[in-house]
Amino acid sequence: MMQTEDYSGEIIKCMGDCPACAYANHEFSLPCGMAYEDEICTVSQDWQLPINGMIIVAPKRHVKLFEEMTKEERVHIFEIVNKVISIMRKNEIAKDFNVLFEEKKGIHFHIWILPRDGWKELGIDPTKNIGDLIKYSLNNLKTNENFEQIARTTQLIRDNMVNFLKNQD
Ligand SMILES: [Zn+2]
Repeated sequence: MMQTEDYSGEIIKCMGDCPACAYANHEFSLPCGMAYEDEICTVSQDWQLPINGMIIVAPKRHVKLFEEMTKEERVHIFEIVNKVISIMRKNEIAKDFNVLFEEKKGIHFHIWILPRDGWKELGIDPTKNIGDLIKYSLNNLKTNENFEQIARTTQLIRDNMVNFLKNQD
């Protein structure tokens, strides 16, 4: 069982060995809800970090390494990452983004989309000082105003992904 705090300080509990699989199965949710899902992946605000625009894209299948994804999954997930960044850039959530592919030992593989804007001003390099960035967000960004922004960004992605899918057909 996993028990942790979500980005707003609510307790997340889930049974089973893999929280990401549980999330994909809707066994728990975040205050902002899921931004997008299809048969291959989920798109969601980072569960724990209250950073507006920090979005996680994860395959639904329990994959631990990048190379375990099928070509179909890789191509699709890249397309989704591209679309999510494009939506956020167009709507001025941030100008620049880092994309991190995290292969953490034994953990369900996922991709972080991290807005770069605003960190330098705080003396934090979003590439070199990721630990400081995480600490800063947990100590300073748990505000109602920020939770509302996070919810708005999730809604923005949700609305725009619907259009994306319509235009694909
Ligand atoms: Zn999993």
